[in-house]
Amino acid sequence: SLRAGIVGLPNVGKSTLFNAVVENGKAQAANFPFCTIEPNVGIVAVPDPRLHVLSGLSKSQKAVPASVEFVDIAGLVKGASQGEGLGNKFLSHIREVDSILQVVRCFEDNDIVHVNGKVDPKSDVDVINLELVFSDLDQIEKRMEKLKKGKAKDSQSKLKHSLFKEDAEKAALEKIQQALMDGKPARSVTLNDFERDSIKHLCLLTMKPIIYVANVAESDLADPGSNPHVNEVINLASDLQSGIVTISAQVEAELTELPSEERVEYLASLGVSESGLGNLIRSTYSLLGLRTYFTSGEKETKAWTIRAGMTAPQAAGVIHSDFEKGFIRAETKWEMWSPFTLLFTCLFKGESGNSTPWVPPTFGVAYDDFVAAGSLAAAREKGLLRSEGKDYIVQEGDVMLFRFNV
Ligand code: GDP
Repeated sequence: SLRAGIVGLPNVGKSTLFNAVVENGKAQAANFPFCTIEPNVGIVAVPDPRLHVLSGLSKSQKAVPASVEFVDIAGLVKGASQGEGLGNKFLSHIREVDSILQVVRCFEDNDIVHVNGKVDPKSDVDVINLELVFSDLDQIEKRMEKLKKGKAKDSQSKLKHSLFKEDAEKAALEKIQQALMDGKPARSVTLNDFERDSIKHLCLLTMKPIIYVANVAESDLADPGSNPHVNEVINLASDLQSGIVTISAQVEAELTELPSEERVEYLASLGVSESGLGNLIRSTYSLLGLRTYFTSGEKETKAWTIRAGMTAPQAAGVIHSDFEKGFIRAETKWEMWSPFTLLFTCLFKGESGNSTPWVPPTFGVAYDDFVAAGSLAAAREKGLLRSEGKDYIVQEGDVMLFRFNV
């Protein structure tokens, strides 16, 4: 599943938030056959009412939501990018996540020491950004050095291809280096598809999307805009092309300790109608450009996470990586056994000699159509179940049927 790393300076509320997320996740653990929670990793369901509608219509034995993995990455402090030991370890944890949630302290509390002496969101955000920028600059310099010395070439047979790739990478690295030196994140740089692909292997930290989590006092929850610190974070987030969510970590922690009937009452007393965790999870999901598709049958209805723009084979690959390969294996099978092999090969062999992959039967029906029809069978009868090819871009809410066993 998608991994989101929680970072921030000490004493801003990271652990409080992380623990609330994990406790909340445990409450939903019944739905999670795969709910293995390490000390600093928690898996949380993405709330989605459509899942339960589909599951009801298909009379599924269980409904399995999509999930987000939260990782508590404590210890990112000033100077981390210079540190050989611990600092680097924290940065390498960040390298492994898909998105970063930076908790920014917006609550005042004289009993809780702020590392810089006062609540100051701009300075907090700058400190962390600088560490990420330094780390990326360091990595880019090392990579450029390697490319210059010609040590990064692929095997000779791929020489032509790799020289082209190297040019794209060099161009991308130069653009990003310039941006970083101006204090701007790598994600703010405009790159073409080749350039973007060429630097993927570096997993640059400032390329990852960031969501700023403004941690406010409970008294600010009803009207966060009245807190000037929050407005500062909103402005920073827009400058840095990032998202923002307002939350009170303390309130979330307290909510997990209350029986569910008392939660609504407690939230109402603070002037809000729902816990902020749902919003945080949904924001994390949508700000990353993620989409959901479903598979639905008697055994289970399940929500799957894909990136916007993924094709049917890629979406199937999310279920099991073998499935994506299955699209290729199926091609071989067809070519070997089908009586139409010759005709097929003649018709579809491209100039390059690569044959068009054969696609096993794939069907899709839009969520609304499925619900209107009432079942997959009814959707099929009404002609709403579309047969899709390998280039089909899976749409938000599609209910998909992949037939790999033909
Ligand atoms: P971390 O170092 O960033 O992980 O911070 P912690 O989660 O350990 O929180 C540091 C202290 O701040 C703890 O004593 C928390 O109870 C407190 N704290 C966290 N969130 C809030 C909040 O929203 N309001 C107030 N008043 N205190 C908070």
